Amino acid sequence: MIPVFPGTVDAAGRRATLGVMGGGQLGRMFVHAAQRLGYFTAVLDPDAQSPAGLVSHHHVRTGYDDPAGLAQLTELCQAITTEFENVPAQALQTLAQTRPVAPGAAMVGIAQDRIEEKAHFAACADISGVTCAPYAVIETPGQLQAVLDERADLLPGILKTARLGYDGKGQVRVRTAEELAAAWAELGSAACVLEKMLPLSAECSVLVARGWDGQVVSFAPQRNVHVAGILAVTHAYEGALPPVLADRAREAAVAVAQHLGYVGVLCVEFFVVDDGTEHGGLVVNEMAPRPHNSGHYTIDACDASQFDLQVHAMAGLPLPQPRQHSAAIMLNLLGDVWFDADGQQRQPDWQTVLSLPGAHLHLYGKVQARVGRKMGHLNITGLDVATVKNVARRAADVLGLPGLDAI
Ligand code: ATP
Ligand code: MG
Repeated sequence: MIPVFPGTVDAAGRRATLGVMGGGQLGRMFVHAAQRLGYFTAVLDPDAQSPAGLVSHHHVRTGYDDPAGLAQLTELCQAITTEFENVPAQALQTLAQTRPVAPGAAMVGIAQDRIEEKAHFAACADISGVTCAPYAVIETPGQLQAVLDERADLLPGILKTARLGYDGKGQVRVRTAEELAAAWAELGSAACVLEKMLPLSAECSVLVARGWDGQVVSFAPQRNVHVAGILAVTHAYEGALPPVLADRAREAAVAVAQHLGYVGVLCVEFFVVDDGTEHGGLVVNEMAPRPHNSGHYTIDACDASQFDLQVHAMAGLPLPQPRQHSAAIMLNLLGDVWFDADGQQRQPDWQTVLSLPGAHLHLYGKVQARVGRKMGHLNITGLDVATVKNVARRAADVLGLPGLDAI
């Protein structure tokens, strides 16, 4: 990969431009990072009001598999990335015929499918040192019957669709064989995995960036708190996780990226399981082939953010090891914050939130607030953990946010 340096103009007068498939908030923050370095940007997303399209130099407004749109994107850009994993793998393949695309279609394809993803985790268990939760694949009535007959050990469990699940969607918790059969029907008899329900003591994730040349850097693991299947709070400071566990998670995530020959930013999510040991056991859950909600704190707490590393990795620039300079807590701001207890729409109390020391508000430019919709996040940074926790509690209180009871 020949590096695409920012601020350059080629013989035909074209400015160095980076492209992204998808115009959501992750694309928007990617665009911000690329533009800060001096790149022009292009976003492909059909929505005229997409958060990234609104701030990009170019917005190709077509479907993700529209040949004309894909041709326009390659015409505009010297390198292309993706911001959501459900972009058609075929579209990434088409783009890759003429431009460097990171992560590649094969990587995104694995992350799109829980069955393939788990097979990959199993394949690299020897080097990563972690396995996933016990599970069974259910794609046919015969496989369902076999699980009903022989895998009582997986109950109680969670039935998850193999594809297109996110934020806990496409998942049903099942306790009995009857519930399992009903849940599979409810999910349209789609390809699924049944995962054993594990006693979680915590959840964490690791962000890794790997370049075209195989160089790898990573952020320290962060601890994540989910409410109703959606990330609510990320704790990113020393002591957020037991050091032994944090080291193991980081090594495992790097091993996963290396084993795949991955290029770009990869997020690997882990469960910490109550297994009677002092620190608990580590189980790999899933991976996202892109920056992740749990890495948003890096924008304000580190000297390079996950989006900066995404830019560096895709463009073939060097990948310096990022350094975290502040303790941080990230509070996710869902559309719920824009409604009061009676369901009436309200304006969140930004006056108070913005007066808090170390509070960094990020809103994604979405006009319509809906319950459960990711509207923004609030990073709280500070020199010491106690101060950050205090400010986070205050912010959560003012905004009516859940998930901070445990801190
Ligand atoms: P996202 O893509 O937004 O991270 P998702 O819809 O892909 O979420 P998962 O990460 O598989 O879903 O699960 C969502 C949450 O449900 C997990 O973060 C965890 O809190 C809980 N969960 C999932 N699987 C299990 C399990 N096997 N045992 C216990 N809890 C689980
Ligand atoms: Mg998840």
